[in-house]
Amino acid sequence: MSENGMIQKVDLYQIWEQEEFRQILPFKEYIFDMLIHLDIVSEQRRYDTKTGSRLPIENFFVPCMLTQRNDTDFLTQECTPERTLSLAFVFKGTIIPPALPNRLICACLKGNKILLYLVHKRSKGLIVPEIATSVRECLHLTLERISEFYQSTVHEKVISQLPFHTDYSCSRFICYFPEERLALKTDECVCNHGDDITLNWKVWNQKQKQKQCDPDCTGLSEDALSQIPSNTELLRLSVNCATRMIHDLALHLDMEESEWSDMVENYPRNTQMVKFLTLIDLKENNGIRFGDLAKGLIEMKITTHTLCMMRRRKQVISSIQDDILDSIPTDEILDNISTQIGKMVFQLGIELGLSIADLENIDKCNCDLTAQSKEVL
Ligand SMILES: [Zn+2]
Ligand SMILES: [Zn+2]
Repeated sequence: MSENGMIQKVDLYQIWEQEEFRQILPFKEYIFDMLIHLDIVSEQRRYDTKTGSRLPIENFFVPCMLTQRNDTDFLTQECTPERTLSLAFVFKGTIIPPALPNRLICACLKGNKILLYLVHKRSKGLIVPEIATSVRECLHLTLERISEFYQSTVHEKVISQLPFHTDYSCSRFICYFPEERLALKTDECVCNHGDDITLNWKVWNQKQKQKQCDPDCTGLSEDALSQIPSNTELLRLSVNCATRMIHDLALHLDMEESEWSDMVENYPRNTQMVKFLTLIDLKENNGIRFGDLAKGLIEMKITTHTLCMMRRRKQVISSIQDDILDSIPTDEILDNISTQIGKMVFQLGIELGLSIADLENIDKCNCDLTAQSKEVL
């Protein structure tokens, strides 16, 4: 178990057969559920890909038993300043409360700090701020809950102040600035290496539901401008722009007026489809990148921050429980929702990752929107 932290339920029950544990044996199921509830043991969940039902759990993971050191070269090879953003959760005492390492796999513990690295395969400029922000918020909340629980078992009164704060790093991961200083915005937050740390802080602290960029937004990075937009990103642009604007943009990007007319003729009852397929056509035939879109917009005297919005992912908070969200919907559920999707059908298809060819096929074969939705689902 010290190698991989894995244990099976029967093994644990066998341990409890020993004389010392006899008292808990009659309540073994309850005690086991309690260990899971307290995150001391965690379930390895698996689902049947066909039926969507949860498979019986065989293996359980016990983080505190994993004593193997991280001897891979991941940190030196992958966490490079070009591709990585970093922050640290710093605890007030000299050590991290022991309740924490029992529940986290701590490859990045240094003294009283937990270092968080977010690595992009190619460049850190391509890390989507919404994703960085939700990773940070999620970990912050977890640390908060564990600390609270730990305090409640040690002290009688729960101290309202958090036992840790967040520090943000410069690009070399050498200088770390506390968040209070960054939030104040009165101080110069430039480190000895000449890095403005507020830029890092902003990526981790993206404001939600933002319809517009910050006044000091400098637009997409060079890396992002050289990228080919994904179908989902083109969909977001097409949904947010008027038909006329997409038409003008397409002509600026060398589409012929006749091509546009063909497109309109092909989908007379679906302007959303016309807008979207026009952009797809530009991507597939003219190989447009974000930079080309930016150039087109500048020529049309439209703000290039339209493109920042396109890269942003909408955060959706669902009231549905996680284990329900994790399961595969039944045919009955699909039948019920397919009647409610209407004209959104191809947007749904793109968001779910269907290819353009698949969607065109579905559109041609079924005139009825409900039938189309069913096919997409
Ligand atoms: Zn520095
Ligand atoms: Zn912007």
